[in-house]
Amino acid sequence: MSARLLMLAAPGAGKGTQAGRLADHYGIEHLDAGELLRAEVEEGTERGAAVRSYMDRGDLVPDEVIMEVVGARLLVAVQSGGYLLDGFPRNLAQAQRGHQLAQEIGGIELQAVVHLEVGRDELRHRMLARAREEGRGDDDRAIIEHRFEVYDRETAPLIDYYEGRGILHRVDGEGDVDEVTERIYRELAGVVD
Ligand code: AMP
Repeated sequence: MSARLLMLAAPGAGKGTQAGRLADHYGIEHLDAGELLRAEVEEGTERGAAVRSYMDRGDLVPDEVIMEVVGARLLVAVQSGGYLLDGFPRNLAQAQRGHQLAQEIGGIELQAVVHLEVGRDELRHRMLARAREEGRGDDDRAIIEHRFEVYDRETAPLIDYYEGRGILHRVDGEGDVDEVTERIYRELAGVVD
């Protein structure tokens, strides 16, 4: 049985980059919720248009939608033995639903949750730099702040939730990208297969 992991971090913490590396390292499927939603938007369906309006505002898409979009892919990934969740779950309801499903199937529960810790000033700096590079408009600053509010309200409670389940691993996400990757490997050594 291979690794079953979740990468949990605030916007701008480098979650996607580190998740991609970890998935390669452990040879498991990288399930990126944001990417799956963007693919849905690209398809130009009615559901895609609705998804886009939530994403553009920096809000979470409704739980039913994310369960539909991620659910099927997740089941395929878990049957292959391992998975790395990136961006899902993002609130307690999603986490509880995911846990319930995993228990129903049996033997596929999360082994470890990596919480990448980066200070708010550094996150703000990184997000604004990214927005400038992508040439986006002035209202980005407000959307970035809104994404932090949504993270604090909806997603941050997952830290205590997974700590309570005894599977939370905190990793310092500041500094050199390669060094952060090494810290994660060191933290997970002996924890996952
Ligand atoms: P990300 O690429 O992880 O930053 O996600 C981009 C956007 O996709 C988020 O700001 C949300 O609008 C949406 N999203 C991603 N994952 C979820 C999720 N698990 N639940 C609800 N919305 C999500």
